[in-house]
Amino acid sequence: MSEDLFLKIIRREVPADIVYETDEVLAFRDINPQAPVHVLIIPKVHIRTIDDLESEHAELVGKLFLAARDIAGAEGLSDVGYRVVMNCNEGGGQAVFHIHLHLLGGRPFSWPPG
Ligand code: 5GP
Repeated sequence: MSEDLFLKIIRREVPADIVYETDEVLAFRDINPQAPVHVLIIPKVHIRTIDDLESEHAELVGKLFLAARDIAGAEGLSDVGYRVVMNCNEGGGQAVFHIHLHLLGGRPFSWPPG
């Protein structure tokens, strides 16, 4: 999958169902949802994987989680609960190499994951 896909969504070159946007963060519904609510939350700057994070990104990563909290609230998930996941590299399930949180909700989740 193209490394540039999410940058293309940020630039509106690829359509997406955008649910949240700030100067630094964009969130949109996953094209292949794994739950009734499945939103991807990304930074607008390109960071390839968790392994590429620098200490200067700490505040930005925090903003991804604050976005997850706000979107979960807007989607009515706060009380029942939801799952937030970030995959890292192929072995961790990452297919798009621009970091993103998966916000999943609207169905039960088990632990440990499969
Ligand atoms: P990853 O496996 O990298 O953690 O997650 C990538 C996610 O991007 C997948 O859940 C996949 O369904 C989603 N995805 C891939 N291509 C597109 C697209 O063009 N639009 C949207 N909205 N989601 C996409």
